Amino acid sequence: MDMGIAGRTALVCGASAGLGYACAEALVREGVHVTIVARTEGPLQEAAARLAALGAGRVEWVAADVTTSEGRERIFATPRAFDILVTNAGGPPPGDFRQWNEDDWQKALRGNMLTPIELIRRTVDGMMERGFGRIVNITSSAVKAPVDGLGLSNGARAGLTGFVAGLARSTVARGVTINNLLPGTFDTARLAGNFAAAAQREGKTPEEVRSSRVARHPAKRLGDPAELGAACVFLCSRHAGYINGQNLLLDGGSFPGVL
Ligand code: NAP
Repeated sequence: MDMGIAGRTALVCGASAGLGYACAEALVREGVHVTIVARTEGPLQEAAARLAALGAGRVEWVAADVTTSEGRERIFATPRAFDILVTNAGGPPPGDFRQWNEDDWQKALRGNMLTPIELIRRTVDGMMERGFGRIVNITSSAVKAPVDGLGLSNGARAGLTGFVAGLARSTVARGVTINNLLPGTFDTARLAGNFAAAAQREGKTPEEVRSSRVARHPAKRLGDPAELGAACVFLCSRHAGYINGQNLLLDGGSFPGVL
């Protein structure tokens, strides 16, 4: 299926590895010109080279921390008219809410709620003026089913979800959709870190945690980031103009509810 977005431009955040990279790769394969962002220059440059080697869309990179206003200024220092925005950054650390102070909460809210909102603010009006835009926020299955020990993520992402649900209704008539992808357990470095933290809490090895999680999972495997990239590219496609304000759960059927 032709996604109908060749030649469009995309800003993909948190994109040197993991889920963000998978979204960038899927977009480049469709001929989208992408600007990828991450904090660490070396891996980011390598990621950009891998994407450019696909020989499809043009690839640029900006080394920046998207959760800071300086980082966002660096991204937008070169004026670019983005048609597609994928918001993403690292998730907050796990822990017990009794150990978190207000600063910990402010950091989580900044990273996983206020940063995506700022990125949307910087791009959405231009998209509406041009009559086409796709905004995809990578959030978490925790929005639907809070994850034990990930309270900072559960709380901050719920705030983003509520805001976006309202905004999406005011942009779609001008061709701009806003949707969220809710990953369950995808095989990335971040997930390996979560397994290591759980191993410490549970007195197991990370490998034991990983195999017990996989054994309990209905799909008996972790998600492949490329599967999330494919969902992202469809939401960004010209075919998805009537999908708006949705929370798409990608968890292999782990969530036990019907809806
Ligand atoms: P990952 O493998 O650790 O990759 C994160 C990417 O984002 C890296 O490229 C990283 O590069 C970049 N990044 C992190 N913080 C950044 C920042 N402040 N500014 C710019 N770039 C930043 O993580 P992932 O598994 O893909 O997870 C992505 C998001 O999905 C996270 O918020 C995570 O909590 C959420 N999530 C993941 C899963 C899962 O199963 N993997 C499940 C639910 C939710 P630098 O470190 O160099 O900046």
